[in-house]
Amino acid sequence: MKKQWRVGIIGATGMVGQRFVLLLANHPWFKVTCLAASKRSAGQTYHSALDGRWRMEEEMPANIAQMSIHDANDIDAIAPLVDFVFCAVSLEKNETRELEEAYARAGVPVVSNNSACRGLEDVPMIIPEINADHLAAIEKQKERLGGKGGFIVVKPNCSIQSYVPALHPLRYFGIEKISVCTYQAISGAGKSFETWPEMVDNVIPYIGGEEEKSEQEPLKVWGQMYDGVIQNAQTPLISAQCLRVPVTDGHMAAVSVSFRNKPTKEQILECWQEDVRTLPQELQLPSAASPYLKYFEENNRPQTKLDRNLSNGMGISIGRLREDKIFDYRFVCLSHNTLRGAAGGAVETAELLCKLNYIKGEKES
Ligand code: NAP
Repeated sequence: MKKQWRVGIIGATGMVGQRFVLLLANHPWFKVTCLAASKRSAGQTYHSALDGRWRMEEEMPANIAQMSIHDANDIDAIAPLVDFVFCAVSLEKNETRELEEAYARAGVPVVSNNSACRGLEDVPMIIPEINADHLAAIEKQKERLGGKGGFIVVKPNCSIQSYVPALHPLRYFGIEKISVCTYQAISGAGKSFETWPEMVDNVIPYIGGEEEKSEQEPLKVWGQMYDGVIQNAQTPLISAQCLRVPVTDGHMAAVSVSFRNKPTKEQILECWQEDVRTLPQELQLPSAASPYLKYFEENNRPQTKLDRNLSNGMGISIGRLREDKIFDYRFVCLSHNTLRGAAGGAVETAELLCKLNYIKGEKES
């Protein structure tokens, strides 16, 4: 007897939604039972709604192509079809929060890629390898949302997902200051070179809201549980610059860091060993990365094109660790923004929630 969970994808036609479709089409635990998007797509089959808009290299899975799309606002119709939903929609923040809370109030757990609820102290913002203990805040949130059993868990912004996993094991040495510059792919804006031709042969030194998120979100991920909610960490001090660069997928980050107790280079490399095991590996979650962290000795690695798919796009590639003249050390790291940074990270978070019994599924023989 094994368990299976019925899953909805809200925003299924978008860039992140399409990634969800690929990741879930043959998932061992999850079965897609509902697709939803805006009124514009509702009523059409997934295949016809995406005519000319399918942006993945892989083919659209045949078992999903013929499913018809629901209006995401028709929660009464969707709730009985699912055990939980993934949500990735392009709406105003207040509208997104309203939509996600409406699902939660209807008793449907929401695993969200959107930023609308990230700042709330009772909404866990999870990187499964780092802060699964924050899931305890779900109890307080359920009380706020009316106790039907639904809740919202979010994943952090894609920009922080290469450098926070690399820095996390170094917190033991007391990280005091971080300066980071991110080089972010165009898929992070839901775009391709066809839909954003201005990005060919170009760099744009501004991504709205990204630097604030990059400086603030790590402090929530590194926060502590206090009185049933998450209290943000006060340190380290983080300064971020975020640039849009002409690559399809993969966010790179150049990091400089100072410590209270400066480690040796060997101590840092020990923290980044390939056989590092974290909770997802211990629990054998289907999306657990192996390796989770990989350090490249070559001076010209990691490279976006060569290394973004490490561990099915869930691994963090690191390289070029060296001493810095202003900070203690500097290095470069890379992760796949729509896998580790978006849909893949959300799927792994959902696996964690299911494994830890926060989401109930159905028994299947
Ligand atoms: P996208 O490609 O623009 O897709 C947006 C989705 O939202 C589509 O399915 C769209 O449906 C749906 N939608 C639009 N208006 C709606 C409405 N009024 N009601 C219900 N659904 C509506 O956006 P995306 O890049 O996938 O991003 C989605 C979310 O994920 C955003 O919050 C973004 O910040 C976040 N995110 C993206 C990335 C990334 O790498 N792209 C990474 C992390 C987080 P229609 O097709 O019917 O219009």
